[in-house]
Amino acid sequence: MNWENNVRRVEPYVAGEQPRKQNVIKLNTNECPYPPAPGVETVLHGFDYDILRKYPDPDVSLLVNALAKRHGLSDRQVFVGVGSDDVLAMAFMTFFNSKKPILFPDITYSFYDVWAELHRIPYECQPLDEYFRIRKEDYFKENGGIVIANPNAPTGVLAEVSMLEEIIKANPDSVVIIDEAYVDFGGESCVPLIDKYENLLVTQTFSKSRSMAGMRIGYAMGSEKLIGYLNNVKFSFNSYTMNAAAIAAGTASVEDEEYFQDTVAKVVATRERTKNELSRLGFVFPDSKTNFIFAAHKTVPAQEIFDALRAEEIYVRHWNKPRISNYMRISIGTDEEMEKVICFLEKYLAAV
Ligand SMILES: *Cc1c(COP(=O)(O)O)cnc(C)c1O
Repeated sequence: MNWENNVRRVEPYVAGEQPRKQNVIKLNTNECPYPPAPGVETVLHGFDYDILRKYPDPDVSLLVNALAKRHGLSDRQVFVGVGSDDVLAMAFMTFFNSKKPILFPDITYSFYDVWAELHRIPYECQPLDEYFRIRKEDYFKENGGIVIANPNAPTGVLAEVSMLEEIIKANPDSVVIIDEAYVDFGGESCVPLIDKYENLLVTQTFSKSRSMAGMRIGYAMGSEKLIGYLNNVKFSFNSYTMNAAAIAAGTASVEDEEYFQDTVAKVVATRERTKNELSRLGFVFPDSKTNFIFAAHKTVPAQEIFDALRAEEIYVRHWNKPRISNYMRISIGTDEEMEKVICFLEKYLAAV
C-alpha cells in the first residue's frame, strides 16, 4: 500500500469550462469567434487519408519553414509543438534546471506555477504594481530563469519591448521566455531581439489569433542553440508530437497573411467598442491589447455578475484569487455576441 509514496503528485491546471450545450455565449477561454483561414478548410477537405498510415515528419519541416519565413528567421530558429502549452512545458523542462528560483509575475498565466511544480523547479512570484504592470527591478536579481507573458494574461496589460529588453540583457545567465500568446492583437513582438540575445525564447500560438485552438499548434522562436536544446528534449520524449493534419492545416493558415490580418482587425475593433460600452456601464479595467478585457465593476462584486451571466448562458472567467477576485475576464466574441452581453449587463446593473 506504499506505492502512493512514489507518485509524482501535482495540482493540475484548471482550464476554462467547455460547455457541451450549443447556443451559449462562450467568452471564457479567449478563442477567436471567426473561422480559420479558408485554406485550412481546403486542406482538410482534400486531405489524403492514406498518409495517415505513415508517421508524420518528425521535423515538421513544412510548418517550421512557413513560420520561419513569416517571422524572418531560419528554420533552425523555430520549434513547433502541440499548442504553446506543450512548447512551454518542454521549455521549462529544457531550460529551468538551476537550483535558483525562476521568476514570473504574481498575476499571470496560471499554468506557469503548475509546470514549475510538475518539473520540481523552485519559483518566486514577483508582484505586479497597482496597475498590473511589471516592475523591471524585480527581475534584476539572481534567478534560474524568467517567464513573462506579454501582453499578460489575464490582465491584458502590454509591457514595452524596451523594458523587456532591459530584463533580457540583465540576465545573460538565464533563459528568458516571453509568452506572446496575445501579441497579434496590438502588441509589439520581441522576435526582432532574437538575433541579439541568445538566451531569449519567444512563444506564440495558433489558438487565439489564428482561430485554431482545436488543432493544437504552438511554437517557439529563438537562437539556433536554444532551439537545438529544445529539439533534443523533444526527441527524447516523443518524436512525433505534430500530426499530419495539423502540419498541413497549420501551414495553410500561415500562408494566408491577409485573412489573418483581417480577422485580427475585426477582433480589435470589437474590443475597442466593448471597452467603451463597459466603461459606460461602470466597469473599470486596465487597457487591453489582447482579445479579452479584464474588468471589475465599481459597485457590484464580480462573483455576482459572473453568476448572473452564467444563468443567462454567458460564460466568462472569474478567479477567486488574491488581488483579482473582483475582476472577470471577458473574451471578445463577435459584435452580435458582445451586443447581447452589453444589453444583458445594462438591464442587470440597472436592477441591482
Ligand atoms: C492560451 C495561452 C497559452 C496556450 O495556448 P495553446 O492553446 O496551448 O497554444 C499560453 N500562454 C498564455 C498566456 C495563454 O493565454
